[in-house]
Amino acid sequence: MAPKPRPKPTPGDPAPSMQVFNGLGVSPGIVIGRALVLDDDLRHVQKRTVTEAGVKTELARLDKAIKAAVDELNAAQKAAKQEIGDEAVEIFRVHVAMLTDKYTTGPARRLIEQERVGAEYAVAKTMGEHADQLRKFSNSAIATKANDVEDLEDRLLNHLLGPRASRLDKAPENSVVIARDLTPSQTAGFNRKRILGFATDLGGRTSHTAIVARALGLPAVVGCQNLTDSIPEGAPVILDGEQGILIVHPDKEHLEQYRLYTERRRLFQLELSEIADLPSVTADGTPIEVLGNIEFADEVGLVLNNGGSGVGLYRTEFLYLTSDHEPTEGEHYQSYKRCVELCAGRSLTIRTVDLGADKYTQARAEVPERNPFLGLRSIRYCLKSQPMFKRQLRAILRASALGPIKVMFPLVTSVSEFRSAKYLINDAMEDLEEQGLAFDRDIKIGMMVEVPSAALMADVFAREVDFFSIGTNDLVQYTLAVDRTNERVANLYNPGHPAVIQLIRTIIRAARRHEIPVSCCGESASDPEYALLLMGLGLRTLSVTSSSIPALKRMIRSVTIPQCERIARQALTFDSDVQVSSYLRDRARQIVPEAFDGRSAE
Ligand code: PEP
Ligand code: MG
Repeated sequence: MAPKPRPKPTPGDPAPSMQVFNGLGVSPGIVIGRALVLDDDLRHVQKRTVTEAGVKTELARLDKAIKAAVDELNAAQKAAKQEIGDEAVEIFRVHVAMLTDKYTTGPARRLIEQERVGAEYAVAKTMGEHADQLRKFSNSAIATKANDVEDLEDRLLNHLLGPRASRLDKAPENSVVIARDLTPSQTAGFNRKRILGFATDLGGRTSHTAIVARALGLPAVVGCQNLTDSIPEGAPVILDGEQGILIVHPDKEHLEQYRLYTERRRLFQLELSEIADLPSVTADGTPIEVLGNIEFADEVGLVLNNGGSGVGLYRTEFLYLTSDHEPTEGEHYQSYKRCVELCAGRSLTIRTVDLGADKYTQARAEVPERNPFLGLRSIRYCLKSQPMFKRQLRAILRASALGPIKVMFPLVTSVSEFRSAKYLINDAMEDLEEQGLAFDRDIKIGMMVEVPSAALMADVFAREVDFFSIGTNDLVQYTLAVDRTNERVANLYNPGHPAVIQLIRTIIRAARRHEIPVSCCGESASDPEYALLLMGLGLRTLSVTSSSIPALKRMIRSVTIPQCERIARQALTFDSDVQVSSYLRDRARQIVPEAFDGRSAE
């Protein structure tokens, strides 16, 4: 039984206390809980006055916070030396010098003494004013110092008030996190027993925070724009990750409707789970390999339970994002070994570290890039951090002795990049051989095709690589010049854009000509209508988030390849993304209406 569409509330519903916020539903599911509001604008600090005796306590608190911040900066400086380079080290050195300079923190000290205020207020007021003054300078070198002062202010306030992280650690049960934005690692670290889901002001459908939410089965709505300023802490909320809605102070009627819907959805999921064990073949008998995308080794179990036949994308950067240090070779090895064991002979494709852009370690977060999506990310970063990269490659190779593993590189934009990365694999192989350590000498080495330069040169790449994996999340972003994490341009982020479809066709044709395997591991492969198109263009392997596998398999089992091919041919005739999207949706609804049963009417 499929769940029935439920009424879509609109802003301005009569109930005075109920508020409805619309955003992008990026991870399905509905939860009812209470708001845990993370206000990351720590400069909104309450003014608190203290007694004469309290002044001493506040001065001591300030000193303690300065010392803790200096220790933290020294540690970050050390980490940056190994991981990022001299420029970052210099920034931390300057920050330490500023914090220990009386010119920076002296005014806060005086304010505590003269006005008998709390240390946090003194820091926020004096450093905030200092930053504002700096910003007025026409000399940009001085004006940008304002950011440094604000950074130090945040650091001190973190120590005085407790960081956002500790609020998350103490989240009460049934919390729905409301934040301006969340990083993928914050999301990955959520206490799942207490946090039911989240809604943010910023974010896009294929941001890594959204991807992690889907992987964890955590309902999420992003891009709601002004939640954090409007929602009171502890307010009752309904989070609808399907319609992309957050209802604050829901009235009785909505609560009842959503309770009913949640129950129907549970039954629907149960029904879908029965598909897991059925073969993944089209109605006319063509096998389609459905694999899972994972961020953590333990997700392999979810992929297999949902009916996936292996792992098509293991995003290994999450090893870095969920740890406070760079993983050692041993830690890498343990994760890959666990995956190989859980896969038990099934396909496993490990992608080398894809850090940068919206996935950064703490040390790199301290030195933001001006344009991180076009910056030192992915394979570029690895080739610049060779000792780190080699540790990972050695671990992957060692694990390849335990079972079938393929390895692929992210964001390859030029052939020389691929060659350099492959050279390092060969180098690692020689080292292992010298040490007498086992590995698979014939390990397949492939690449993600996720930038237009690689797609356009697919013919050239296809001579050198063992396989292609199409990453539509980035391919769409770089082809259409639309930031995948930016809610303001989310309406322009469309995998159905003719330019994207043409690039995908180019990649598939090149792979065919050179007889190498090609698959798609971008999020769009899990959209039933888009999967029809991909199959019609010739793909026979799709890799998706584990929770999307049953619905995808059901769609595959109800279509024929000639139907998919007709759809692809027609889609290629349109000149606008809007036409393509509505055509794909209409055709999919006609051919496989049941694939849309789990969705709400839109
Ligand atoms: C992609 O870009 O499509 C992809 C699968 O990689 P990621 O989402 O990790 O960037
Ligand atoms: Mg990518």
